[in-house]
Amino acid sequence: MAQISGGCLCGKIKYTCNAAPVMVAACHCTHCQKQSGSAFSVNVGLPKGTLQFTGKTSIFEDKGSSGLPVFRHFCSTCGSPLFSDVVAMPQVDWLKAGTLDDTSWVKPTINIWCRSAQNWVTYPEGATQFAATPPPAS
Ligand SMILES: [Zn+2]
Ligand SMILES: [Zn+2]
Repeated sequence: MAQISGGCLCGKIKYTCNAAPVMVAACHCTHCQKQSGSAFSVNVGLPKGTLQFTGKTSIFEDKGSSGLPVFRHFCSTCGSPLFSDVVAMPQVDWLKAGTLDDTSWVKPTINIWCRSAQNWVTYPEGATQFAATPPPAS
């Protein structure tokens, strides 16, 4: 796979990543709806710490369903959400797929927090749906 690259709407913040994505998941939680201003967020899971940034992100400290913080990184100039650092999930950072330069390979295979999904949403064939978070991997 090609190196991952992207950035925010205004171009102040850019990123690259050489690691392979762990998964692509659509999140239908109400917080992602609020933050994205959309129906859901599409998140590319990348091994924690492998994203390299040019420009400094601002951080909103949100709280996840675990009660632990979710650090939502965004551009303070244009407001684009860039990635989330979910403290309860120490292995991955969640990159917002809409900020990628090339989204042609992106395909969410997992949908989470479907219980708060907007009514019109339909799921791609073959995707897996969870009402909330997936059960922890064993
Ligand atoms: Zn920006
Ligand atoms: Zn979410």
